[in-house]
Amino acid sequence: MRNPPGQPAPGDKWLLQVESLGKAFGDVVALDGIELGLREGEFVAVLGPSGCGKTTLLRTVAGFERPTRGSIRLEGRDVTREPAHKRAVNTVFQRAILFPHLSVFENVAFGLRIGGLPRREIASRVHEALALVRLSGLEQRRAHEVSGGQAQRVSLARALVNRPRLLLLDEPLSSLDLKVRIEMQAELRRIHRETGTAFLYVTHDQQEAISLCDRLVVMNEGRIQQVAPPSEIYFQPASPFVAWFVGNANLLPAEAVDAASDTARRLITSDGRAFSVADSESSAMGWVVLRPEAVRIATSGSAGLPGEVTDVAFLGASTIYEVRLFGHELRVQEATDGRPRFAIGDAVSIDYDSTRSIYLPKRNQDEARAEVDEHESRIALSDRASS
Ligand code: ATP
Repeated sequence: MRNPPGQPAPGDKWLLQVESLGKAFGDVVALDGIELGLREGEFVAVLGPSGCGKTTLLRTVAGFERPTRGSIRLEGRDVTREPAHKRAVNTVFQRAILFPHLSVFENVAFGLRIGGLPRREIASRVHEALALVRLSGLEQRRAHEVSGGQAQRVSLARALVNRPRLLLLDEPLSSLDLKVRIEMQAELRRIHRETGTAFLYVTHDQQEAISLCDRLVVMNEGRIQQVAPPSEIYFQPASPFVAWFVGNANLLPAEAVDAASDTARRLITSDGRAFSVADSESSAMGWVVLRPEAVRIATSGSAGLPGEVTDVAFLGASTIYEVRLFGHELRVQEATDGRPRFAIGDAVSIDYDSTRSIYLPKRNQDEARAEVDEHESRIALSDRASS
């Protein structure tokens, strides 16, 4: 399968163009035909499970890894074979790699000194970069005397002082505690706005990715699954994997039983519920995607389908329930008003709104049938469909 394009539209000005990029480490295929474009000043996040190739993509763009095939263009120039130090990019890593006994000022100035810039120019650029990351006043502090959050600010200043066109960030906040991480997310958004530098940001934290970027790249097993603005990824996922990985959607196997009209199809989900979706795709089988927050939970006997609570996770503003329903485990998210309303073992009624669900038809019918059979062996879908 060719990757869905994260590709230039005609007339777009692309800062970075990655084409047919592949990278193998022995037998391990880390990147498989990556196609991706990044506009000037854009904030693009790369999200995917551990081992899907995010870091390899970033390191290949930076020039730390040689691709097995494909090409990388920066500002229109082919840099595929160029060493890292010749590319107009800088990288911020997961952990700040600073010279511990040098001052904050000298850590930021280091690259400029090697580049032979005049002293006055160095001083002015370092002060500007430290002001940008809100570390003015800490210039003389030794690097080993700053906190984890401050150390990552020094790393950012050290990258930005070179005025790169593209900043690569490899999970830069993952070693920080939650409170500092949230504070730094806001700082990154501000720094991105103020500098106009393009950011390519790797993370496995979906909340972080969604809240930061203009466009989100979802990867799995070395391939791009979807490239789109976060809201589009959330509400129009291109595949069951994307729906599940971004936002923990429930996936109900479903079968389209008739084409009632030209625009609507009647679907039967495996819990026996029928509803129409505006979808003219020809596939007769697929998945109904239900976001946890689109599922309603009520006391047993209310309208809906009977289920049993199997797990409760109180998150503060909301509660996540796992509910067993006709052999499925369904995730339900409810805004919390006081304490969670239900406990493990409670009988409940589950209801969902078909207008807030998405139907993902399957491309390969044999595969679809096998998957549904495997998951839903106890439910005779075809019997229901024909009754
Ligand atoms: P994580 O979120 O855990 O950092 P990732 O999505 O960044 O994962 P990569 O680090 O890019 O994933 O790894 C992709 C695949 O390539 C993995 O199977 C990994 O084991 C393999 N890999 C990465 N670097 C090397 C290497 N230097 N030698 C051999 N295999 C490697």
